[in-house]
Amino acid sequence: MLIERMATGPFGVNTYLLVENGACAVIDPGGEGQRVAARAALLGAQVEMILITHMHFDHIGGVDELAAATKAAVYAPLGELEAGPDPAKNLSAGMGIAPVFMRTAPEGLKGGQTLYLAGQPVKVLSTPGHSPDGLSFYIDGAVFTGDALMAGSIGRTDFPGGDMQKLLSGIQKELLTLPEETKVYPGHMQESTIGREKRTNPFLQGEDLWDL
Ligand SMILES: [Zn+2]
Repeated sequence: MLIERMATGPFGVNTYLLVENGACAVIDPGGEGQRVAARAALLGAQVEMILITHMHFDHIGGVDELAAATKAAVYAPLGELEAGPDPAKNLSAGMGIAPVFMRTAPEGLKGGQTLYLAGQPVKVLSTPGHSPDGLSFYIDGAVFTGDALMAGSIGRTDFPGGDMQKLLSGIQKELLTLPEETKVYPGHMQESTIGREKRTNPFLQGEDLWDL
């Protein structure tokens, strides 16, 4: 599987293009849907699905344009669907940017589900706490963690619906149990691996964490 990263939208969120046998999944198009669609076309790939880790504006600003350009199926956390068209809930209100009103109605996803990209399983993992119902996606030795787990850090929990206990618990149960060599592709900043985060992420070192 080919994995490409693009920085999109006002905050330059990490948008990932996953290409398997000519089929493409795009994770978190934060903006510039046309540019993402053009990149997929240049790679000779058909965008079949758009996967959203969580419904904060900087991860969804490009969904409408990309979905219109590609007719891709759009999937988002079941518990956050109402945030798409609601700038207060997707946090775009009052950010000094154009408010984000996502018109696309995604299909809701829950942890434990599996989607398929050209036959390759995409496992849906429940990693809430940065947002009410945040998800991560595991595919072919790589995990896309949105703003739950980042290299050397974890997501903020001071937004509405944030919960530090839930965030640490989800990371522990769903992410740190993956093979150590699993590559971590977060929503912001650089890549890592599960093994490196287990050993060095300062937020994941407390002994009590292992009892969550
Ligand atoms: Zn976020």
